[in-house]
Amino acid sequence: MNPYREQEIVEILNSNEPEILNSLLQAAHNTRIKQLGKEVYLRGLIEFSNYCPRNCLYCGLRKSNEKIHRYRLDEEIIIELAMMAYNMGFQSIALQSGEIDSQEQVDFLAAIVEKIILSSKQRSHQSLGVTLSVGELSYQQYLQLWQAGAHRYLLRIETSDPVLFKKIHPPSQLYDRRLECLDALKDIGYQVGTGIMVGLPGQSNEQLAQDLTFFQKRDIDMLGLGPYIPHSDTPLARVPDRHERDVFTLTLKMLALARLAMPDINMVASTALQSINPLGLRWGLMAGANIIMPVLTPEEKRSDYSLYDNKEQKSMEEITAEVEAGGFKLGYWKWGDSPHYFQRREELKQG
Ligand code: SAH
Ligand code: SF4
Repeated sequence: MNPYREQEIVEILNSNEPEILNSLLQAAHNTRIKQLGKEVYLRGLIEFSNYCPRNCLYCGLRKSNEKIHRYRLDEEIIIELAMMAYNMGFQSIALQSGEIDSQEQVDFLAAIVEKIILSSKQRSHQSLGVTLSVGELSYQQYLQLWQAGAHRYLLRIETSDPVLFKKIHPPSQLYDRRLECLDALKDIGYQVGTGIMVGLPGQSNEQLAQDLTFFQKRDIDMLGLGPYIPHSDTPLARVPDRHERDVFTLTLKMLALARLAMPDINMVASTALQSINPLGLRWGLMAGANIIMPVLTPEEKRSDYSLYDNKEQKSMEEITAEVEAGGFKLGYWKWGDSPHYFQRREELKQG
């Protein structure tokens, strides 16, 4: 239940009053502690390829960006990284890449997911949890990856406004297609995550308020919401934003409002949030986020996975210090699934 109506949300987003921000963050924090406790769950992020056939106007991995060096990690390396995460006490990994555009690549990924789950099961009764974020696929392909053992999927809507969506994507990339994908993922049984970028050129606070309504209507299990950060080799970086705004604070407000509206979902303190403010991780958690995704991609490939400029990469020591400084606790050896998912599935069973 959303405690605020859309108009009240717009007023909160418009406000520059420190008291409004502070009481919003405090309320979100209280809700989070009550619903989910102090634990912060880890998803080891493996960015296994930066090839992408898409041309999203905001993203450095877009096909037309010829300046980046493209890479694809080998199967053995991906499995090695996953097992490294497992040995570090991470119970989950997230495999992310540019969009996968061939059946061959889906087969490759499905085989890797199977092997990771098998290897981790040999060591303990609970295997590694696998989250995927590889773009728009067919129903059959999502099903194949689910049957291979993946159980969470992240596909951001980027903005719930179809008009703004059209402005930040080429004509071949359709809003409705993305909705179909989100439907397919839910139908198959995945824990479904979506999200948006905050501070896109031309994005209004009314649109952001509608994004929150969109998440609720879609009954999502996980939220990935972060600031938009221009990438200098993309068309959107050349589009001026007429709104003068503090995107960091705006993102914190959106996280806090999302936590209040959806108390039991999993919410990520995104790398993008950490990239625009040195205290982004701590503040993200204080605004209600309960998931972090430490980057495990090999050091020498990280700069090639450049979704946006100046991506921040924190070490595990820095992450631990930030989490503890905020009064939170890292949830090692636990899957940390979205409680909302189980409640939703239970309701589905009861009809
Ligand atoms: N190709 C997959 C996964 C990789 S992109 C996909 O598109 O779903 C993952 C996310 O990075 C995107 O959903 C987008 O929200 C985010 N992203 C891309 N470019 C960005 C930018 N310039 N600033 C902030 N986030 C960005
Ligand atoms: Fe490709 Fe994803 Fe970037 Fe779009 S956002 S260009 S699909 S990597």
